[in-house]
Amino acid sequence: MLNEKIEKYLNKQINAEMWSAYLYLSMSAYCQNNDLKGFANWYFVQFKEEQDHAMILFNYVNSRGGKVSLMPIAEVETEWNSILAAAEDTLCHEEKVTAMINELYSIALEEKDFATQSMLKWFIDEQVEEEESVKEIIGKLKLLQGNGFGLYTLDNELAARVYTQASPLAAKA
Ligand code: MG
Repeated sequence: MLNEKIEKYLNKQINAEMWSAYLYLSMSAYCQNNDLKGFANWYFVQFKEEQDHAMILFNYVNSRGGKVSLMPIAEVETEWNSILAAAEDTLCHEEKVTAMINELYSIALEEKDFATQSMLKWFIDEQVEEEESVKEIIGKLKLLQGNGFGLYTLDNELAARVYTQASPLAAKA
């Protein structure tokens, strides 16, 4: 049986992942509106991955006999000053998510909930990747310094990103 405090934080995390999905879908729309189809694709893949993150937690709460409580998803931004500003917002957001995962893990340690600690390890590793991939994009955007051809090339590169289901979900399917 899932401890009440852990259950509360897991539900909070489900909401944060759904909010992340919503934010990235909004960024995808912003990119579409600004003729950056490759970036729009990259953010659309992010959107799907965030939904996977929420579902991993959703399945976990259920498998431990806990109760999933879905809360309202907060409003997201719809406009950014530039694609660089959107990418910087993405990094800032992922750093917040990392802090939430770390807090959740420290609560699981305090509560001696070993199964939750084990499940969260995937998320800890995933956050390292999330931050790294957006840092790489920010670095490239800064190198381009608004160069149109560079941006066009980077947009084409990001158009190639393909969604694959998160491994804990794929393993369950
Ligand atoms: Mg996530």
